[in-house]
Amino acid sequence: MSGAYPYTLKKLIETFSLLPGLGEKSSTRLSLFLLSKPELCEILGELIKELPYRVKLCKFCRNFSEDEVCNICKNENRDPHTLCIVENPINLSHIEETGIFNGYYFVLHYLLSPKDGIGPKELGLDHLTYLIKLRDIKEIIIALSPTLSGEATASYILEVLKNCPVKVTKIACGIPMGMEIQFVDPLTLKKALFGREVLKEK
Ligand SMILES: [Zn+2]
Repeated sequence: MSGAYPYTLKKLIETFSLLPGLGEKSSTRLSLFLLSKPELCEILGELIKELPYRVKLCKFCRNFSEDEVCNICKNENRDPHTLCIVENPINLSHIEETGIFNGYYFVLHYLLSPKDGIGPKELGLDHLTYLIKLRDIKEIIIALSPTLSGEATASYILEVLKNCPVKVTKIACGIPMGMEIQFVDPLTLKKALFGREVLKEK
């Protein structure tokens, strides 16, 4: 379809099509739109080029950060003894927005999936046990979506923490089975955080 376009335009359409959720039609529409916005092209180009060099993982919680330590981990007014495990930075900010959690986080970035080569190493679980000791964590709250892979990951984390002297709880109540946390409304999420289920006492 993009065969009649000049090379650079064609290439841009093809490249946009590699992005999740963008087919050839929407890629073409985006590319043609950008063609009429040279300033936006400049800004986008710069941002995209710098993105992988500027945005890193926080050395403590693995959340995205431009500094070695993210703003949440830098904040000394938070409860240092509670750590909430989330799948990704989207869910982290969703929980932050409820305003009821005041501890620190740990971001997995993946859920366990041996067939895709995602194991404990990719989830950073070694780093998690190191953090528990370093921060003298007393409670771990597992805030993963109640999907099949979320549940499998939660069970695995519980197994890993078997011999750690921490209490482990899981948010569950009110969130329908199979639902991703990012789509849960803030009120239900608040209730789920309050009414968390104890998986393991210290
Ligand atoms: Zn951090």
